[in-house]
Amino acid sequence: MTIPAVMPTYARADLAFDRGEGAYLIDTAGRRYLDFASGIAVTLLGHAHPHLNKALQDQAGKIWHTSNVVRVPAQERLAERLVANSFADTVFFTNSGVEAWECGTKLVRKYHDATGQPDRWRIITVGGAFHGRTMTAISAAKSEKLVDGFGPLVDGFDQVAWGNLNELRAAVTDETAAICVEPIQGEGGIRPAALDYLRALRTVADEFGLLLYFDEIQCGMGRTGKLFAHEWAGVTPDVMCLAKGIGGGFPLGACLATGQAAMGMTPGTHGTTYGGNPLATAVGNAVLDVLLEPGFLERVEAVGAFLWERLDALVRRYPRSLLELRGAGLMLGLRPTRPSGEVIGELRAEGLHTVPASDNIVRLLPPLIIGEAEALEALAILDRVFGRLEAEAAKPKVAAEVSDA
Ligand SMILES: *Cc1c(COP(=O)(O)O)cnc(C)c1O
Repeated sequence: MTIPAVMPTYARADLAFDRGEGAYLIDTAGRRYLDFASGIAVTLLGHAHPHLNKALQDQAGKIWHTSNVVRVPAQERLAERLVANSFADTVFFTNSGVEAWECGTKLVRKYHDATGQPDRWRIITVGGAFHGRTMTAISAAKSEKLVDGFGPLVDGFDQVAWGNLNELRAAVTDETAAICVEPIQGEGGIRPAALDYLRALRTVADEFGLLLYFDEIQCGMGRTGKLFAHEWAGVTPDVMCLAKGIGGGFPLGACLATGQAAMGMTPGTHGTTYGGNPLATAVGNAVLDVLLEPGFLERVEAVGAFLWERLDALVRRYPRSLLELRGAGLMLGLRPTRPSGEVIGELRAEGLHTVPASDNIVRLLPPLIIGEAEALEALAILDRVFGRLEAEAAKPKVAAEVSDA
């Protein structure tokens, strides 16, 4: 049996990037692309950001890794800064999103165990969710694509329809420990929760003594123009996981919690070899330096609004090729009439790099450093491609009318 040396779990585009400069990527053939994918919401500050490069290089010359059996000063500093800028009192660092999510899942069970309610161990999740690829995370999200052939699944996750409060309330039992949702679903197709829904989740959690757990791995870290997406709703969770943008491209994740929720996470209960190591947290601190600069998030919000207004006009202008615009800030999704994979190929041929999501979505996830100039450049490419697709979509109809006559 022949199989590629790289296990073929991805249907990869025949494209490789050699280097990046800010919001631009240069492929191995020397072609330049505007990067509206950011390595799937990861390279938050673009490529080769001088402040991040310096932090990485300075730390690389000192010490890379020590393990968590000793204190890690950069980790302590990053934790303190995340705590100072969020609802949380404490942080556990990981190497990836799914590990951060899993830490939150374990924390939720441990909390109820520590408060004398070990029978509360089930977590309510919602349709369209994505929490990563471990057995537990696919068991929580349950989508066919994720679980097919991997059963039996891990027990302990009850799923309800996204946005449906009646179903959610009906699903709460004596065994329910928490509600876990993404404030804006990413892989599920850039689906923002209604702010009232997020507020109602807080109310339901309080009413039944559940923990509210937000997965902000994709929508957090400034992507919506606030440091965390839930801030728009004016409610806070008890637990939140972060990753993707938090390391600006260096593998890093974090699970944040209130002191109350984390009361069971005592020495020896959880751990990781690499998580929060000196190199990763040096870069994490550098990312946060930029995000917390006065005016940075306001600029993200402004350029997001600028893009939204013009993309919305594009959707109206090309109704045969564009059905919908979704999202918030710089986490946007376009739903074309043609298969998103084809559209992404056309955009790439014109120099705009994007990524797909479920629900036939073309995801626009530019680095947060873009300004109006990059937004206008992307809009010009989108206009060209959808203008062409619109004309093509109009053609068969004309042909049909002619043949009918
Ligand atoms: C990407 C993602 C994850 C998983 O992160 P990995 O780093 O791939 O493990 C989990 N939840 C959400 C919302 C994500 O977007």
